Parts: sequence; structure tokens; C-alpha cells
Amino acid sequence: MDDETFRQVLTLFREPNLFGGFIAAYLGLIVGSFLNVVIYRLPLQRSVVMPGSACGGCGVPLRPWHNIPVLSYLAQRGGCSTCGSPFSSRYMWVELICGLASVGLLVHDRGLGVAWLYHFTFFAIALAVFFTDVDHWIIPDEVNLFGVLFGCFAGIFLPSRGDMDVFQEFFGWSIEGNFWGSLLGVLVGIGFFRFIQLLGLLVARQEAMGDGDVKYAAVLGAFLGWQMALTAFFLSFLLGAVYAVPLLLSSKGRGKDPVPFGTFMSLAAVPVALWGDWLYEWFLRFELY
Ligand SMILES: [Zn+2]
Repeated sequence: MDDETFRQVLTLFREPNLFGGFIAAYLGLIVGSFLNVVIYRLPLQRSVVMPGSACGGCGVPLRPWHNIPVLSYLAQRGGCSTCGSPFSSRYMWVELICGLASVGLLVHDRGLGVAWLYHFTFFAIALAVFFTDVDHWIIPDEVNLFGVLFGCFAGIFLPSRGDMDVFQEFFGWSIEGNFWGSLLGVLVGIGFFRFIQLLGLLVARQEAMGDGDVKYAAVLGAFLGWQMALTAFFLSFLLGAVYAVPLLLSSKGRGKDPVPFGTFMSLAAVPVALWGDWLYEWFLRFELY
């Protein structure tokens, strides 16, 4: 295959056609399968690489053909083929959601390019955090560190978000690219959430915000830039309040179970990453007087 043909084939697979769709679905399912391991093991501080997956009932290691996303679960009727103990259907749903999101992003980002990689990586992080925070009230440090680094550096290859234009306006500094906007986003995220954490300790004398939430705010800042990160924070507080206020008012809320705030941050951040400009305008349209 000469260079020209290779380039054409590559273009074909990157486009939002059926070929690209298959590649996107495949990658999405594989990543979803890996996310299941991340969600299950990282909060327990176990390696995501070794050992391979095994049945929780009888301990028989899963064979490669047991690890095919979605299909294996359906073929084995949702259980271990040796001892028959049931597997949670959530494994299948995480894989399926990841596959669908990957294809959806292929359409949204017009192909398997850098924008797709950026959005899909962010989606995968958000999905992992959604479940680790629901399960254990934990957002693993490994996920947060990866997110901050990837968000800051991969954003360099994307068109500018324009969130540094404010410096041009006020100081006449021209700052190009996304790196500085991401870095400022990291600082704004940590600063904002640390402030709320301290406020909770002073006023309510309880931890309103875990350290994992503060670090995850930095991930949102890195991926979204400082302006859209603030939009996402606002939306996550709104969603968190919708969930928590009825709980607090009912008698069930007397127990001091923490709200899995990372879960709401994930729910808010993904739409902001994709349709942030539109949401931002929408919020601004609500006039209070
Ligand atoms: Zn078994």
C-alpha cells in the first residue's frame, strides 16, 4: 500500500461513516470493559493490570472469550459459566453506554480525530468517577491525576476555547491556545472547591466536600477551561441540590450520609463539555430582576 492509498484508507475510517462507526463502537466497548475494572479495583487500591478478572463466586479465571464486551454477558445469561453465580448487569451497561457514547461523539466531532479523543477520554473519566463515587464515595487519585495531565496537554492540539480572551480585553495580553486556560481552570477548580470545603467546616462543622471532589474539580478545570468549568460547577450544585434537599427535608435524611458529589459533577460536566456555549447562554438568559 503506497502512502496515498494508506492516507485514503485512514481518512475513510476516521470519517463519521459506517466504517468509522464500527471502529468507534469497538473502541468504546473495549474502553468500557476496562472502566469496569477501574471502577471495581481502584477504590480498593488494587492493580488494574494484574491479576486478570475472575469469577467472584468460584474464583475461576475468566477466559478471553468471557471478556468480550456485552456479548459474553448475554451469551452466559449474566452469570459464571462454571458455577452459575450471577454477575451484575452493570458491567454490561457500562460497556454499552461507553460504546454508544463513542459513536455519538464520532457524529458530534465529525470523525475520529483529536476532538473525539479529547471528548471520549473526558467521558470515560466522568463515567468511572460517577460509579466509584456512588459505590464508595471515593474518586481515585490515579483517575484525577491522569485527568489533569491529559486535560491540560491534549487540549493544546484543539482549537482555542477562547477563554483567555478576557486577558486580552482587560490587560491587552494576547494568550493563544488552550494550555493556559486549562491551567487556570485547574487553579479555579481547586480554589473554588477548597473554599466550599472550608466554609462547610466552619459553618456546618462537617465535611461538605471531600478531597477527592476538590481534585476532581481540577480535572474539570483542565478539560473545560476555567470559564466552562465554572458553568459545570454551577450545574452540578443545581443537580446536587435537586437530589439532596428532598432527602434533608424527609426523615430519611437525618443520617449523615455524604452526597456523592463527584457523581453530580460528572452528570453536569459531560453536557457542558459538548454543549457548554449553549448552556452558558441559557443560564445567562435567566434574569433575576
Ligand atoms: Zn464462578
